[in-house]
Amino acid sequence: MDLQSGKLYWPTTITAPPSYPKLEEDISCDVLIIGAGSSGAQCANLLCEQGLSVVLVDKRKAGEGSTSTNTALIQYAGEKSFVSLSHSFGEEAAARHLKLCEQSINEIERVSRRLPVDPDFIRRDSLYYASCKEDVSDLTAEYHLLKNYGFKVDLWDAGQITGRYPFQKEAALYYHDDAEMNPLKFVYGLLEKVKALGGQIYENTEITGRRFEQDYAVFYTKEHREIRARHVIIAAGYEDSDFKTEKNATLASSYAVITKSVADFSSWHKRTLIWETARPYVYMRTTPDNRIIIGGMDKDTSYSGTRDSKILASKDKLLEAFKDLFPDIQAIPEYYLGAFYGGTHDGMPIIGQYESYPHCYIIMAYGDNGTVYNGVLAKIVTDKILTGSSPDLELYLQTRPLAVT
Ligand SMILES: Cc1cc2nc3c(=O)[nH]c(=O)nc-3n(C[C@H](O)[C@H](O)[C@H](O)COP(=O)(O)OP(=O)(O)OC[C@H]3O[C@@H](n4cnc5c(N)ncnc54)[C@H](O)[C@@H]3O)c2cc1C
Repeated sequence: MDLQSGKLYWPTTITAPPSYPKLEEDISCDVLIIGAGSSGAQCANLLCEQGLSVVLVDKRKAGEGSTSTNTALIQYAGEKSFVSLSHSFGEEAAARHLKLCEQSINEIERVSRRLPVDPDFIRRDSLYYASCKEDVSDLTAEYHLLKNYGFKVDLWDAGQITGRYPFQKEAALYYHDDAEMNPLKFVYGLLEKVKALGGQIYENTEITGRRFEQDYAVFYTKEHREIRARHVIIAAGYEDSDFKTEKNATLASSYAVITKSVADFSSWHKRTLIWETARPYVYMRTTPDNRIIIGGMDKDTSYSGTRDSKILASKDKLLEAFKDLFPDIQAIPEYYLGAFYGGTHDGMPIIGQYESYPHCYIIMAYGDNGTVYNGVLAKIVTDKILTGSSPDLELYLQTRPLAVT
């Protein structure tokens, strides 16, 4: 799949990316992980920490899937609100999902502090503003539900917003303790740690076939090498449809622009992450080298030609949207891209477990908080492999009732 096009920013932040060999022999392991992006790397880290023998393969260079276009706003609140998730799954289940996402952010922070490559994890608050007056009542309901469950969030009125930002909005939710990071450095850091713990990593190694036996699975590479494993985690990102299509999963296109460094952020309260209630939405964050990342303008297409034909226009529209909010900041574009972007109909990521794929888990961290969902699903799947059970598995299995079919 042609996952993305354009001029990417994250690869320019790393001078000497790690590299790994191609698989040239038949091997066996406890767990085979297919995909060395943020999903696969987080799984490998958790399993290697517990002493399992892990093989991680990627058909590209590690991290060069969707992870390299991830704009990496690290948040627990997703595109589908708590209120909306509660309608679909019940309040307790929706709250549990959000709590797991919150824990995943804490875990990403804990892990990040000890990696051999520093992923620039920085705690940031988030401003989620009402794009129009009609959305204020929904924001208010969302605020009360979040508060009932102890989430650290405030409801701001127009005065509180204009006191801190150069734009006017009727209301906003102000979330405390979200984060930003460099997703490519995060993956490189995890992989280097995995390697140090004895995990085997192979790049340019594409899985093209499989065979299932009673107690193990055998996956084949394009060059007919065999990997025999007791468990397999398919963490192939939006390309997991090459393994199994999932009717709850959707594919669209998203856009981002990264500006040149900006001299003065004094009008941007605490360099918060910013997004809005409109759908599709526009979001923005800053980087450690003082750039601005502006993203969104999602389009409902999964054809790369259509996606790419809109990159330049989307770049201009994203910059206009930024200028509407921050007329005082001169945003000069330097990098811009279009990329496929997965979601689910019901707003929750998925763990796929299928009869036709014994011994396998397919991690589908689809959605706007993909990095955080990667963390949640990685923990559940690795707990299941390590201990035989995970209390939260049911919440994410593809067999849960669909809100929309
Ligand atoms: C434009 C954009 C902005 C985003 N912004 C955010 C954000 O702000 N916050 C957030 O949390 N998330 C965001 N996301 C989502 C996030 O990028 C993804 O959820 C995350 O990177 C997915 O990681 P992954 O490991 O699942 O997939 P990937 O990074 O795509 O890794 C999967 C890997 O599997 C490999 N693979 C596939 N098939 C095979 C095969 N047959 N054999 C071997 N290897 C294979 C691929 O080469 C790839 O490297 C964004 C995504 C996009 C596109």
